[in-house]
Amino acid sequence: MYKYFNDPLKYADFIDKPCEKCGSEKNCLDTIYFDYRSDEIESVCMDCLDKGKALMKIPNYIYQRICDEVKRYFENESEDEIKRKIDIIIGDLQRTPPILWI
Ligand SMILES: [Zn+2]
Repeated sequence: MYKYFNDPLKYADFIDKPCEKCGSEKNCLDTIYFDYRSDEIESVCMDCLDKGKALMKIPNYIYQRICDEVKRYFENESEDEIKRKIDIIIGDLQRTPPILWI
């Protein structure tokens, strides 16, 4: 589920406030750790994050670095294919950010 961590439940900081997307009280994360919030919500559970109901907003500088790297690494691919690869990477980061962000 999380590419960089095998056990996010062990290391993530959870809060008591129910998820503002689904009402669940299980594995809720304080969105204060989401530096760039897509919504003005204070709590989101890991299920909603996984399902894409809440997304991390990827900072522009990270988005740009990913674009630059994909374009450089796949320089012979079509623009559509490069865009598809970028969308996959950004989508992964929005739904299952590295645990240090949560
Ligand atoms: Zn939820």
